[in-house]
Amino acid sequence: MKHEILPVVEEVLASQRFILGPEVEAFEAEVADYCGAKHAIGVSSGTDALLVALMALGVGPGDEVVVPPFTFFATAGTVARLGARPVFVDIEPDTFNIDPERLETAITRRTRAVIPVHLFGRVAAMDAVNEVACRHDLPVIEDAAQAIGADSHGRSAGTMGAMGCFSFFPSKNLGGYGDGGLVTTHDAEMAETVRKLRTHGLEGRYRSRLLGGNFRLDALQAAILRVKLRHLEEFTEGRRTAAERYRQLFRDAGLAAEEGAVLPEDDGPVVVPEEPADGRHVYHQFVIRALDRDLLERHLGEAGVASAVYYPVSLHQQEVFAELGYREGDLPVSERAAGEVLALPMFPEITAAQQERVVGEVERFYDGR
Ligand SMILES: *Cc1c(COP(=O)(O)O)cnc(C)c1O
Repeated sequence: MKHEILPVVEEVLASQRFILGPEVEAFEAEVADYCGAKHAIGVSSGTDALLVALMALGVGPGDEVVVPPFTFFATAGTVARLGARPVFVDIEPDTFNIDPERLETAITRRTRAVIPVHLFGRVAAMDAVNEVACRHDLPVIEDAAQAIGADSHGRSAGTMGAMGCFSFFPSKNLGGYGDGGLVTTHDAEMAETVRKLRTHGLEGRYRSRLLGGNFRLDALQAAILRVKLRHLEEFTEGRRTAAERYRQLFRDAGLAAEEGAVLPEDDGPVVVPEEPADGRHVYHQFVIRALDRDLLERHLGEAGVASAVYYPVSLHQQEVFAELGYREGDLPVSERAAGEVLALPMFPEITAAQQERVVGEVERFYDGR
């Protein structure tokens, strides 16, 4: 994309406007339109998007925020950084997303918000989550860091709760050339609060009623993201085509468990992610469950096929959260997933031959057992 990116970089350099400014404003308008959100506020990272969204809700010491344990650190880390307590609710075994059936029992009078994560690019069960949250008058913050462009029942990730949080970390589906993030909301007042918090809570030049920080998006990143946003649909279609091809290859090889199977078994050692019936998965990662995952991972590595484990440790078992008092066995679905998941090569330009090689190596591993 060099020939498209370099000219916009030069324009920003020539403009000498490096922080916020017209590029950021234009990007915000374009990405809000893409997501179907009324407001979009560019921020410094996906982590800061979550932090500033929680700050806008006034989350602080003594509060609880419900999150899934099977996700990237930031989902729970931002809650803890504000002095609040992350309360973990286990996931669904097939989608890896928060299980709405278990949500209700986690809510107490101290609960201030719920953060479902659209993990790997698949939207969480938002209708059910919203229904419970609504009954308890709780705002929902969507962690849509992995799910830009995903949808469910015709609504986009990041537009189904009070706020949506996105990341433009380089490896995300819409990746910048550095850190970046976004908060989306339909609520004008909430958007205004996030905007103020992004620059120390300032109103005008030197007056503040809110304690904010420096959570700003750089003009260079915005200019680059504007170019890449124009290609996002074709990137997403590339990922979706690749996902369908993986499913077919795994079935043809006789490796994939029956459609609808949730856990790997001897006659189907691999479970592949299915396309949701009611929406669009954007396959930030293509994550299988696999028997003997660690050995498979090693075999693939030796064969020169990249793979990765997202996530090897459920957050309730992370040392940094030890003081929350969770024990092994408390969140069994998440713990089991941590031992079985493996992300296979997934990017828009992956070729059929590359995918055949990946699945061929998986087949070789299970044949040799
Ligand atoms: C990447 C990610 C974040 C954090 O985004 P950064 O831009 O890296 O700060 C938060 N939540 C999830 C689920 C992510 O994947």
